[in-house]
Amino acid sequence: MHACVIATGSELLRGRVRDENGALIAAGLFRLDMELGEMRFVGDRVADIRSALDETAARYEVLFITGGLGPTEDDLTCGILCDLAGVGTEIHGPSLDRMNDFFSKRGMEPRPGDMKMVTVPIGSRVFPNEVGMACGFAMPFRSSRVIALPGPPRELKRMWEAHVLPWLREGLGVKEKMFLTFRTLLLREAEADERVKSLELGKSGLEWGICTAPGINEITVTSTGGANFDESALRSSMRRLFGESLLDGESLEEEVVALLAGRGLTLSLAESCTGGMIGARITDVPGSSRVFRGGAVAYSNEAKESVLGVSRKTLEIYGAVSVETAREMAEGARKVFGADIGISTTGIAGPGGGSPDKPVGTVCFGIADGAGSRGERQYLPGDRGRVRAFSAVFALDMLRRYLKRI
Ligand code: ATP
Repeated sequence: MHACVIATGSELLRGRVRDENGALIAAGLFRLDMELGEMRFVGDRVADIRSALDETAARYEVLFITGGLGPTEDDLTCGILCDLAGVGTEIHGPSLDRMNDFFSKRGMEPRPGDMKMVTVPIGSRVFPNEVGMACGFAMPFRSSRVIALPGPPRELKRMWEAHVLPWLREGLGVKEKMFLTFRTLLLREAEADERVKSLELGKSGLEWGICTAPGINEITVTSTGGANFDESALRSSMRRLFGESLLDGESLEEEVVALLAGRGLTLSLAESCTGGMIGARITDVPGSSRVFRGGAVAYSNEAKESVLGVSRKTLEIYGAVSVETAREMAEGARKVFGADIGISTTGIAGPGGGSPDKPVGTVCFGIADGAGSRGERQYLPGDRGRVRAFSAVFALDMLRRYLKRI
């Protein structure tokens, strides 16, 4: 089945609001055997919404339209659809009762515009709104089918999960698609691509794609045409291809937290160029308090010295961006926070501050445990954001590899 999303709302075209609804629907459809062919953004203008519906109905079996179900004059979706389809409207009784109840509890009367939110095309399949008032609905439209959903992402998300997805599965008979996602660390996209190509997945009826974020490639393999695949054989092939660069968990920080917890070890951080990015990622993981003691953002030389106990001599002889300083930072973090392991980053994120000896992108990392410390120097070129993001990934990966070996 081929689908299209039409996200309405002039604010989307003005760059004021970033689309969340289309993205949510796309992510949901990706798990189903329904191919999203197109996503359109249309302002709140009758002519534009009409032509988007006209054009897409001729090409797709399912149209998702979001927004425009509210009480105001620029909320046009239901009216346009009924007009184009030649059907009348009716009030959805349970939603009206809920709305009246809501207003009466607050001593208020519904305004005439509010009735629009509980008005649906006659005979449509109604999706109740449990966190707002505007009903969603599905209706036949030409040779296609339209599913209209509210604009506020919070309302759409709840309706999608509670009502639309079950209906797509049970009502339309849409099947789940089989897919597996693999994540590789600190490998160039082209290299990851070449390696996956060597598996010739297409010959087994599989499709795959790579999505890249700093330091991480996400490789998603999907079955096509309802075919299944041997999950454990695919996992083994990927493990053979990528070795230690392949992440076991859903995210690098989750894997690190799980490894620390599994070994009963605690972590502390001393961050300079990453400015707390590693700490933010670790604390993003629920339950990280079991393993994370704390971190210091020690940016200036004075802070490295006074907070972490890096010696002035080390800073003078080797500089703030050096393996020696990184090691002492990691040792300091370990002591200050009373943790088993300390990790540190210190580097030149740019755009200024580079030198021929230490160009922008030079980053040093330290790791300390009860037995001692070690450090390494890396060159991670790019703009400031990229250097910092890569540094955070590198430090976490250094920790991950260390934990896997002990
Ligand atoms: P309401 O009852 O709030 O009027 P509605 O169904 O009419 O709901 P809109 O008026 O189009 O929806 O949008 C309501 C809010 O949701 C707006 O503030 C808008 O910024 C936000 N919104 C709409 N569409 C999207 C989208 N695709 N992505 C993110 N936010 C969106």
